[in-house]
Amino acid sequence: MIFSQTYDIIRPEFRDLIHSNMGLARLSSGHRWTEGPVWFPAHNLLLFSDIPHARIYQWTEGGGASVYRQHSEYSNGNTRDPNGRLVTCHHGSRSVVRTEHDGTRQVIAESYMGKRLNSPNDVVVRSDGSIWFTDPTYGILSDLEGHQATPEQEGSFVYRASPDGQALSAVVTDFVQPNGLAFSVDENRLYIAESGSSHDPEVPSVLRAFDVDTDGNLSGGQEFATIDNGLPDGLRVDRHDNIWCSAADGVHVFSKAGDLLGKILVPETVANLTFGGTRGNMLFITASTSVYSIFVNSAAA
Ligand code: MG
Repeated sequence: MIFSQTYDIIRPEFRDLIHSNMGLARLSSGHRWTEGPVWFPAHNLLLFSDIPHARIYQWTEGGGASVYRQHSEYSNGNTRDPNGRLVTCHHGSRSVVRTEHDGTRQVIAESYMGKRLNSPNDVVVRSDGSIWFTDPTYGILSDLEGHQATPEQEGSFVYRASPDGQALSAVVTDFVQPNGLAFSVDENRLYIAESGSSHDPEVPSVLRAFDVDTDGNLSGGQEFATIDNGLPDGLRVDRHDNIWCSAADGVHVFSKAGDLLGKILVPETVANLTFGGTRGNMLFITASTSVYSIFVNSAAA
């Protein structure tokens, strides 16, 4: 347990979202770069990626961490669709893949306009079954997190795929490097992280907020919140419509108005997070070489 300096309380409302007597627990360590945490309530199971190791790990409360998938094609973001299926972004095969209940895998997206995707990074599935993902170039910049290659796409876009993977649309095309993404509780807003400052300090480290219409088209896209330490990567929305976002010094929590309420301070750079546990009130945090958890006074929507 790590108790010292766990919280930075910026607004008093933040006290309602945490248990100030709860510290971080380090669940697993010795990894290279952890990402893509996803919780499966039917199995009380957490999955997460270690991208440079090209593995997916599983973690359970009683069993600890072990290898779930040995050759994961440099998997990054994972999510659970409304039918409880795993959907994964792969840098290696530059694709988004759904694992069916029988274990077979269906490619949802691997090319756009006849050209290969860059390296799908993070993914979320809307309740209508549409699959939304970001496609920055991180997985093809070097051989660390995939296979080095020249981008074929003209930019790093955000895509929406139909549930069967037959139709793919570029829904946002003006990010430098889009990264994590999450819908508001009513799914009428989509938050997307801009992580382009990883390679260009001129790019603002912001979350942008888009309005989503009934046909799944986006509008708006104004800057919603700024990350004041490092850059935003993965993010999640809780049942109260607060936004929990990764940053260099921990997890930053914003209200739906965009106000920074407080931070959960983590001793390693945070890449992503998800809610889970038997009550839904455990926050799992993938942070560099480790995975942490902490009980919070909120939960996923
Ligand atoms: Mg990411």
